[in-house]
Amino acid sequence: MIVSMRPHASRAEIDHVCERIRDFGYKVHSIEGEERVVIGVVGVGGDVTACVESLEATPGVERAVRISAPYKFVSKEFKKDRSVLRIDNLEIGGDEFIVMAGPCSVESEAQIMETAIAVTSAGAKILRGGAFKPRTSPYDFQGMELAGLKLLAKARENTGLKIITEVMSDRDAEMVAEYADIMQVGARNMQNFALLKSLGRCGRPVLLKRGMSSTIKELLMSAEYLVAHGNSNVLLCERGIRTFETATRNTFDIAAVPVLNELTHLPVILDPSHATGKRSLVPAMARASVAAGADGIIVEVHPCPEKAVSDGAQSLTIPQFRDMMRQLAPYIELWKEWRAAQTSVAV
Ligand code: PEP
Ligand code: MN
Repeated sequence: MIVSMRPHASRAEIDHVCERIRDFGYKVHSIEGEERVVIGVVGVGGDVTACVESLEATPGVERAVRISAPYKFVSKEFKKDRSVLRIDNLEIGGDEFIVMAGPCSVESEAQIMETAIAVTSAGAKILRGGAFKPRTSPYDFQGMELAGLKLLAKARENTGLKIITEVMSDRDAEMVAEYADIMQVGARNMQNFALLKSLGRCGRPVLLKRGMSSTIKELLMSAEYLVAHGNSNVLLCERGIRTFETATRNTFDIAAVPVLNELTHLPVILDPSHATGKRSLVPAMARASVAAGADGIIVEVHPCPEKAVSDGAQSLTIPQFRDMMRQLAPYIELWKEWRAAQTSVAV
């Protein structure tokens, strides 16, 4: 159950509601927003119907809703309207289809600058690039770390692009948050609960990638960790899952988009690069991402993929990225019509 307090409810009213919840045998998980407090009622307690009715009649309460899904705050039952994430004047989940692009890893100033300038002129709004890299082999390039973060910040200064970059450990969260506009949680860390808790507190938007062997429910439970720990600025990312198929690096679960749109109000970003592992397949899957109704895509681009220190095979060259953006344009026009029709239905 979720209890939304009225805007600016008093501390005494909030405390009293928490006391009532505990009287019914439940635990309290409150989120203090700027305007209002939202209280998650969790655990195994007494009579739910009686609890809802009692709370609705308690001073300061705007509404109490029963939520059957195990993920509460991120569920559609809690919030019907889609969430829009705002970073300055950029909106994700709104009326624009957002393209995030850049190399798998930040490798050098020349590489990140050339990519940043090219992707911004082709229409990307966010620059991706890993400074901390989760690599299967300990002998592979592990990332430029702080120096890489500084180069991303420099690229932002030069182009106006926002920055998304991966954070691998809760120990680095504060440092990465100093440079990143969006903190990426990689597939391998989707269930790193210590990391999720620290990102809940860090105050920066988070893009949460689906684990390669994780269900959609598990993805939503991980998103719930972020929100329950204080961060409601969450983007979900489908990046392909591991199946018996070997023709692609992963199997792109494109159905995750409509499924997530039914289950959650959070924006959904697709990653056709990691989903396929092969650059020739990326444009088709990017077009499919727009058609499926995602809120955006995150794509790997490198000025010279054959020299890339990671994921060269799935990285588009700059001309290929430009061409992909041209291919996407008519699909994005249709996407806008579809999105506008959806909004007017909701109103
Ligand atoms: C990446 O974005 O480069 C990355 C490592 O992605 P994933 O966590 O999806 O494998
Ligand atoms: Mn990569």
